[in-house]
Amino acid sequence: MEKICVAVRVRPYASEESMNGSFWKIEDNRISFHRAHETPASGPSYAFDHIFDESCTNARVYELLTKDVIRAAVEGFNGTAFAYGQTSSGKTFTMNGSDADPGITRLAVKDVFDKIQTTSDREFLIRVSYMEIYNEEINDLFSVENQKLQIHESLERGIFVAGLREEIVNDADEVFRLLESGEVNRHFGETNMNAQSSRSHTIFRMVIESREKEHVMGREMSTSDAIRVSVLNLVDLAGSERIAKTGADGVRLKEGKHINKSLMILGNVINKLSEGAKQRGHIPYRDSKLTRILQPALGGNAKTSIICTIAPEEVHIEETKGTLQFASRAK
Ligand code: ADP
Ligand code: MG
Repeated sequence: MEKICVAVRVRPYASEESMNGSFWKIEDNRISFHRAHETPASGPSYAFDHIFDESCTNARVYELLTKDVIRAAVEGFNGTAFAYGQTSSGKTFTMNGSDADPGITRLAVKDVFDKIQTTSDREFLIRVSYMEIYNEEINDLFSVENQKLQIHESLERGIFVAGLREEIVNDADEVFRLLESGEVNRHFGETNMNAQSSRSHTIFRMVIESREKEHVMGREMSTSDAIRVSVLNLVDLAGSERIAKTGADGVRLKEGKHINKSLMILGNVINKLSEGAKQRGHIPYRDSKLTRILQPALGGNAKTSIICTIAPEEVHIEETKGTLQFASRAK
């Protein structure tokens, strides 16, 4: 698998009325905009590792895009899966899903525990945490009193968020319950675009630690030299729309500026990583909390998948082009 895998997902039209004849046409792994049926493409076409149309399920997105990242994490490689796109394009639907079609996070959690079950030669310790970055401040979604947490770095722990609650978990249902409780603490703001648009980045993290089992005289013993620790981040980014469009002022404007800046830095980091190691030069991880937190699981041996969600309606064309450009820079 490529280390950074990039996909675009088109959500269904929000309503019949919003269909005006224009559409995004998907041919294999290319996508292009057409003003009306049978007309030539209006503007460039873009190619990605995968393009998912409006009928695609979360299960299929998981299978084709994210599964490899999760499987590798169980085997000891760090990994990160992102959803990027403007508000209302389907990021949260992709990550959280519905009862009928669970999202990437649930599928990943289930897959991790299934994989553990079938890995009989190792024993595992799984820890999870859930945080949001709102206005460049880190808040713990498992514990409301843990606000404005700081990032630290130490020799033993590497880069970490000090004071973030980590829960040891033994099965998928335990994680689902924790996620539900964390969801309640997410920051929601109202903008003109979406009454419940999320203005924060959220990071759900699993730390997967495993050690080799050794059978000595019928007893299970562990050898300390065979410990693996990997970090898996599942990230629902804040809406990528530019601030002007949302008619923002005051608090909303401040949020928008932080969001735009951190997404731009994320784009720069990923763009650098996707270039060959030689041209790469300095990678600006330190320029935002988001990239700093994700640093150990971006680059190096880590695996990354990015799903860029787009809205099909013509009114969203400018934002959609912005998203496709972000996606193109990530390849
Ligand atoms: P975002 O998190 O990017 O702001 P949402 O995930 O909340 O967007 O999606 C906006 C709306 O569209 C929600 O009502 C969601 O259920 C719906 N939606 C998004 N993507 C899909 C999809 N692929 N299939 C069905 N409904 C979707
Ligand atoms: Mg959302």
